[in-house]
Amino acid sequence: MAPMSQTSSPNSTTVTLPSGKTAIVNIRRSSRSRRVTLRIAPGTGQAELVLPGRLSERKGIAFLQSKTSWLEERLAKYPDPIPFEDGQIVPFLGEPLTISHLNAKRADVQKDGEQLIVSAPTARISKAVHDWYRREAGCEITLCANQKSKMLGTPYGRLSIRDTKSRWGSCSARGDLNFSWRVVMAPRYVLDYLVAHEVAHLAEMNHSTSFWTIVEQLSDEFEKGRKWLRLNGHELHRYGVELPARENRASE
Ligand SMILES: [Zn+2]
Repeated sequence: MAPMSQTSSPNSTTVTLPSGKTAIVNIRRSSRSRRVTLRIAPGTGQAELVLPGRLSERKGIAFLQSKTSWLEERLAKYPDPIPFEDGQIVPFLGEPLTISHLNAKRADVQKDGEQLIVSAPTARISKAVHDWYRREAGCEITLCANQKSKMLGTPYGRLSIRDTKSRWGSCSARGDLNFSWRVVMAPRYVLDYLVAHEVAHLAEMNHSTSFWTIVEQLSDEFEKGRKWLRLNGHELHRYGVELPARENRASE
């Protein structure tokens, strides 16, 4: 998990597949691309349309419309996305929680045993759950990072919680730590390993043997956590997938 480069969150659209199902497709511009490309992003299993600098979005969409059979075939290999809605089951520190919606004017989210009680207007459930995850991730990760940086004897700079697609965490040359909020969905030993990994970069800005020795000292189950993330990490991107912003606006 090398230092990351920050990219702006992509635009997106929906497309109707031959079976009648709807797929969400992220749209990204790339000045380095020579031609329009439709692909499945390896980290997330989400469809992505990459437009070269000069191509209009309309032409890109026309290309997308001509590739729906191909897209449906590819997407069938990935599990369906799970939106944050009433009745959906979502993981928190590896335990399943059932989203239970109560209609309310102001958003409030409380974990109650195996239930996640979301008081909010229906249109705000997804945002309320996202916000809750980010807050919880911030608390859990900060506690863990404080403890590990104390063990290491090296303080970190700033700690940020983000929704990164390609990296679970990173450590900048200035000692700032960044984490994806989604790791708070994984079992605690996974979070523990990830935080240990980034904190260890405060001492070793590489993946050398001495780096891994530090990780091992900072996290008891680091091998297990590392393996879990490698095998199951992509699953965490299924959750809380939102419809494109344009459509959300149209339905309000
Ligand atoms: Zn790393």
